[in-house]
Amino acid sequence: MTARGAPGTLEAEAVSVVLGGRTLVDRVSLVAAPSQVVGLIGPNGAGKSTLLRTFYRALRPASGRVLLDGDDVRRVPGRRLARRLAAVLQEAPGDFELTAYDVVAMGRTPYKRAFQGDDAADREIVLAALAELEAADLADAPFDRLSGGEKQRVLIARALAQRTGTLVLDEPTNHLDLRHQIDALRLVRRLGATAVIALHDLNLAAAYCDRVHVLDGGRTVAAGTPAEVLTPDLLAAVYRVDAEVTEHPRTGVPQITVLPE
Ligand code: ADP
Ligand code: MG
Repeated sequence: MTARGAPGTLEAEAVSVVLGGRTLVDRVSLVAAPSQVVGLIGPNGAGKSTLLRTFYRALRPASGRVLLDGDDVRRVPGRRLARRLAAVLQEAPGDFELTAYDVVAMGRTPYKRAFQGDDAADREIVLAALAELEAADLADAPFDRLSGGEKQRVLIARALAQRTGTLVLDEPTNHLDLRHQIDALRLVRRLGATAVIALHDLNLAAAYCDRVHVLDGGRTVAAGTPAEVLTPDLLAAVYRVDAEVTEHPRTGVPQITVLPE
């Protein structure tokens, strides 16, 4: 892939989020250094999506700050932030008229003036991003009619077309088949972007993340390398499962097997 924004340092500084009188995220601090891939893990309702929403400014922290290269994201003008940070969210665009191409082309918006159409360079970037996700043949298909996995790949392509150095991804491997899961995470690594990724699959987190950050009930319960964090004790405490963790003989990566009751 061609040039993109420089990887940034993305940092949550004691971020709390309170909604409807509930503290959903409680003083969470996390740093993703340039080009680091940080996995955000934890059970359903732990606050992963809520924390990530503060990163791309869809939510305002009740206290604390989110910093990109030291700049409070709330103080960076929207277009400028969108050139530095792209997000792949779980909520897909709801516009039924859009083709997959149109959805990916939205990634070019931060580089345009009002009403400026796509130029040849934009088209090339959009088609390259679709091709990178093996979605070139979906370009003209109505986004609305794609399968869950196809939609997910188109949304990742949109973030790619945004050409940012920093990515926030909320369960990007959901709906993807095995190979596309691996391809998506490999792609993030190959881009050299700074990334914070909410992931459910702990084996994927162990294999592709430099660090993992565990949330439970809105609080940080552990953070460190996958080998430091993904221990049977932690998995028992957070997920209430009996798990065995071994080092994979060929990859050296921690391998988690959940044992039946
Ligand atoms: P995760 O992504 O880790 O599964 P979420 O961040 O989506 O968790 O949700 C964390 C908690 O916040 C959940 O209990 C959810 O029900 C609650 N929640 C999410 N959005 C709101 C909201 N707008 N108002 C009140 N509670 C919310
Ligand atoms: Mg979530």
